[in-house]
Amino acid sequence: MTTTATPTARKRPRKTRTKKINPLPPITASRLASNEIDLAPGREHMVCPECRTWCPITGMNGTPKLVPHHTDRAGTPNARRCTAGSDRRVTIDITVEDWRTVLTEARPTTVSRRATKVLPKPKTAPAPAASQLTPAPLSAETVRRALRQHQQQCRACRGEIASRDGMPLPCRDGERLAITFLRLLRQEPRRRAVRDFFARERRQFDRQYAAAAPTRTAQWSAVLPQVADADTRRAQLPEGDAPTESPAVPLTTLHPAA
Ligand SMILES: [Zn+2]
Ligand SMILES: [Zn+2]
Repeated sequence: MTTTATPTARKRPRKTRTKKINPLPPITASRLASNEIDLAPGREHMVCPECRTWCPITGMNGTPKLVPHHTDRAGTPNARRCTAGSDRRVTIDITVEDWRTVLTEARPTTVSRRATKVLPKPKTAPAPAASQLTPAPLSAETVRRALRQHQQQCRACRGEIASRDGMPLPCRDGERLAITFLRLLRQEPRRRAVRDFFARERRQFDRQYAAAAPTRTAQWSAVLPQVADADTRRAQLPEGDAPTESPAVPLTTLHPAA
């Protein structure tokens, strides 16, 4: 506690930090494309969704927010302050690891996006009948492929569509896919553990079944002679004439008229 009677000039931090907070709702980090944000510790930056300027994020340990900045016309006579993006809070809802993974995965897309030639539409095999389908669990890999395919075809995701006032339009589909991908990525280890458990149980059952097989074979061979015998006897016809003890089959009818 400092209760000094004679006020002394405070030592100011070298980097001016303003406590000002933009009243607009926070920007959600997971909604940005992986290459629009840099979460590398110590140099957190992102593309301001309002003006598309690449600018630093401060307050990573408290309330992360975009630093006050000019629009991309900064340094020119027409520079103007980005009112919607300056001091705007940022919700960091992805981990550095997740962001790195997505970034690595997305890199080939970035490369293919630069290609000037139109990518040929992949040839699709005829759709299998419903009975031929084996339900495949939705994996992070499947969603990642869908996201990549979507990004290649979606102009909004490529940042090519802007509203009338020059704001880039967000793509709900792209966002949804990215969020699903991140969620599945988080869940994958648990799902894999469950799958492994079932596979292990199955293998154990198969082993026990195989171990029991010789016993069943032995039991069958033991009864086989009796079974064969019964079969033979069933096939035999009685030998010789008709039985003598039994009454003879009448050859003439008892009818008086006959
Ligand atoms: Zn801005
Ligand atoms: Zn899209």
